[in-house]
Amino acid sequence: MNQIRHLVNSPNVNFETVGYIRKKNMSIVQTGVSKTNTRNGRKYINFPNHKKHIQWHTHPQTDGFWPSFEDLNKGYNDQGILHVLFTRFGTWLFRGFGKIPDTFHHDLLYHNWDWLNLVLTNRTSQTGWTDTEAMTYIHQFVSTANRIGFHIEFLHNFKSTDINKYTQLVKNRIAQLSPLQE
Ligand SMILES: [Zn+2]
Repeated sequence: MNQIRHLVNSPNVNFETVGYIRKKNMSIVQTGVSKTNTRNGRKYINFPNHKKHIQWHTHPQTDGFWPSFEDLNKGYNDQGILHVLFTRFGTWLFRGFGKIPDTFHHDLLYHNWDWLNLVLTNRTSQTGWTDTEAMTYIHQFVSTANRIGFHIEFLHNFKSTDINKYTQLVKNRIAQLSPLQE
């Protein structure tokens, strides 16, 4: 967890990191870092091939502290697998619809995400945005996503002065949300 904190907070880190978490002992295993697509300059990551394990990745400080739509897509294509996204602002936990969504639900989720992405991209590129304001948008996104059947939650860390307590909170939620088989 200490290393994860460095990966999401350091101004010198501009890449994503990816891996899996063993539920048995909550050990975090790193399997790779993001590569850059030479055609469009976008970062991408290869998720590990450990279908039984919880998948995690990071967004560095230089990137948004919210999931990309590719991340959400990955979440619902990996049925039953919990995805964890670590960012400087907090931790996202998500796990698809329970089945591949129909076009209607896929579109609803996309529009909801598109709204969050636009509003947070705009606001965080200006000065004067607050944690509370960002959380208002995040809450709206999360409740809409949950209402249409996509399980996602966000554990913000901006008030956690006690890092060990925050780490324990995240671990407990991961344990509660991930499937039992290992
Ligand atoms: Zn991502």
